[in-house]
Formats: sequence, structure tokens, C-alpha cells
Amino acid sequence: VSRLAVALVHHPVMDREGRVITTAITNLDLHDIARSACTYGVSDLFIVHPVAAQRELAERVRSHWTAGSGAKRIPTREPAMRLVRVVAALEDVYGALGGRDRIDVYATTASTEGPRRATFESVRERLRVSSGRLLLLFGTGWGLAPDLLDGADVVLEAIVGSGDYNHLSVRAACAIALDRLLGPRGSEQAS
Ligand code: SAM
Repeated sequence: VSRLAVALVHHPVMDREGRVITTAITNLDLHDIARSACTYGVSDLFIVHPVAAQRELAERVRSHWTAGSGAKRIPTREPAMRLVRVVAALEDVYGALGGRDRIDVYATTASTEGPRRATFESVRERLRVSSGRLLLLFGTGWGLAPDLLDGADVVLEAIVGSGDYNHLSVRAACAIALDRLLGPRGSEQAS
């Protein structure tokens, strides 16, 4: 298991008008991102939501697939959903990972502007050589609030494809980011 944890943030995130909002948890996000996290050996998938009723929903989904009928029906989903940890705020994530000062927090964004961008290569190398914990923040809605981007140690470069369009779903963005950070390279392809 890597020292990389992932947090899916539902507040503070932006809406299309640029206001800070709280989004609802999307069941599909839990499943898809948990499966990507499990595939790449991510240590924890934190689901961050300030509303208790939403956290209870996410806990119910988690227990359905780790101990309920879901785990019996589709056993392969169990190890992925076991990575899910539901918390109220990012402070709880920092606490669970040993404290904010012991974590490198990397925010993600589709925006290609802005300072302090870290390349995937540099973060991949950091993961390889450092012993610290890394936390990768993903947003919902129209993206992470500026406070989170400013408060991160580094903002990761935006994932871009062949043209200008790069508004990925958070599920796709997380899978691509994890493969770039933790996936085997051609030369390192598992033999
Ligand atoms: N409702 C949308 C959905 O279906 O996923 C939510 C999109 S949400 C704004 C997209 C999040 O995924 C961003 O906050 C960011 O974390 C990540 N993301 C999306 N596109 C990205 C890109 N091109 N590069 C890096 N991260 C990206």
C-alpha cells in the first residue's frame, strides 16, 4: 500500500456561478473512485462531507458492500469499498493521517492557469523517494474552492489531452492521476 491517500471533497467546492457550495455525495463516485484507489494501492479514500445525513448515507453504502448483501453478491467490490472512510471535514483527514504538518497536500484542478503547479512526474518521483504521507484532493461541483487550492502545499498540473477541452469527471480524473502517479511505466511493466 502506498503512502498516498485520496480525499473526495464535497465542501468547500464551487458552483457554476463561482459561489462556495456543498455538493451531494454521488454513489457512483464512491464505487468508481474506491475501485481505482484499490487498483493502485491507495491507503485510504476519504469522503469529506459536513452534513451528517450525507455521511450516514455514505456509511450505509460502505457497509452494504463490505458486510451486507453487496459483499456477498459482488465480493470483488469489498476490498475497494473497505478503503472508504467517511469524515466531516478535511481536518479529520489530516488527523487520521498523523497531522497536517506530516502530510504533503496536493490539490487537483482542471484549470491550466495559476502558480505552483507540480508535474505528475515530480510527484511520482517524490512518492518514490520520500517517506512522508501524500494526500490528493479531488473536488466535486465545479471544483475545489480557492481556499483549498491556496492551502494545499502544491497544486498538481491539470490533466490535459490533445486539445483545449479537459473537463473530466472526478472519477476519470482520479483514475488518470493515480495511474500517472502509481501505475507501472512501460519500462517498469510488471514482468
Ligand atoms: N459533477 C462532476 C463530475 O461528474 O465529476 C464534478 C466535476 S469536479 C469539478 C471535477 C474534479 O475532478 C475537479 O475538482 C478535479 O479534482 C478533478 N478534475 C477534473 N478535470 C480535471 C483535469 N483535467 N485535471 C485534473 N483534475 C481534474
